[in-house]
Amino acid sequence: MKKHNFYAGPSILPQFTIENTAKALIDFAGTGLSLMEVSHRSKQFIAVVEEAQNLFKELLQIPEGYSVIFLGGGASLQFCMIPFNLFNKKAAYLNTGVWARKAIKEAKGFGETVIVASSEDKNFNYIPRNFDIPTDADYFHITTNNTIFGTEILHQIESPVPLVADMSSDIFSRVIDVSKYALIYGGAQKNLAPAGVTFVIIKNEILGKVDRKIPTMLSYKTHIEGESMFNTPPVVPIFAALQTLKWLKEMGGVAEMEKTNIRKADLIYNEIDRNSLFKATVTNKEDRSRMNVCFVMNDEYVQVEKEFEVFASSQGMIGLPGHRDVGGFRASIYNALPYESVEALVGVMQEFENLKK
Ligand SMILES: *Cc1c(COP(=O)(O)O)cnc(C)c1O
Repeated sequence: MKKHNFYAGPSILPQFTIENTAKALIDFAGTGLSLMEVSHRSKQFIAVVEEAQNLFKELLQIPEGYSVIFLGGGASLQFCMIPFNLFNKKAAYLNTGVWARKAIKEAKGFGETVIVASSEDKNFNYIPRNFDIPTDADYFHITTNNTIFGTEILHQIESPVPLVADMSSDIFSRVIDVSKYALIYGGAQKNLAPAGVTFVIIKNEILGKVDRKIPTMLSYKTHIEGESMFNTPPVVPIFAALQTLKWLKEMGGVAEMEKTNIRKADLIYNEIDRNSLFKATVTNKEDRSRMNVCFVMNDEYVQVEKEFEVFASSQGMIGLPGHRDVGGFRASIYNALPYESVEALVGVMQEFENLKK
């Protein structure tokens, strides 16, 4: 039976990425060596890094004056790397979920950390609006897609100070204006590559403004100057990321991807809103994530939640149970998840409704 992969991360990747990476694991670029065996400084691998950087710039239309680097340590390492490089006296954060909170925790060790707004009062099921960003903050940090709670900041936040965004789970899913951001980062394992590589897009001019001594490996300058080769980079995940970027370009780029993602999200949210068994945890439609769709049983049907889980899984739906902080279900419908998989899930929800009504 066909499996439909709704895991939140690591998650579904394009077949193109999986097949090309598998081939390169046997013979990389005609070298007769496995991708795992070649020097990261070989001309063939340097070409991979350069092409990946160039495709980042092309697909996201990154303006002049920005660098793209690939690092280890996951998005979580960025939670402290950002303050190390940017925090002088004060930083501002928007608290929209578990990942935002983890970023805030690290910033607090560096000085005054202002939480401009929080949606914690409603278990992070909405995006706060109408908050003031202190104009004397060194930067303002947001999490554009809240993977666990299924909310997404789909409107452009205008910030009077450098805007820093964790886009781990919605990068390349919609068109963004990079010029509005000073720094964008994310772990690759949601929409790009297997775990192990983190991308960082940085406006060069924001660096060099703090007095502290930054540990060498935690300084963005080290990795910009070293062209992501200061130390051995995660070779296999970077190669896989390049395949996904090529696939994305082939699919028509980010704007086309966004159109498909809107169709996928509409299909599943419309079914959740229509189906008498289920309800969405995010009620404000403008805040609903197009990547992670969270839903629970309607009150009259909570007792059949487990039954739906078993039924869906028997129909090939993988990775649907929600995060423990939300419960219910979460369908992660990243770029690589085909429209047909969302249709299949909707079919399963309708079938289950017919069984229960
Ligand atoms: C998954 C995730 C992270 C954590 O990424 P790691 O690479 O595991 O550190 C951070 N932020 C968001 C929004 C995520 O979805």
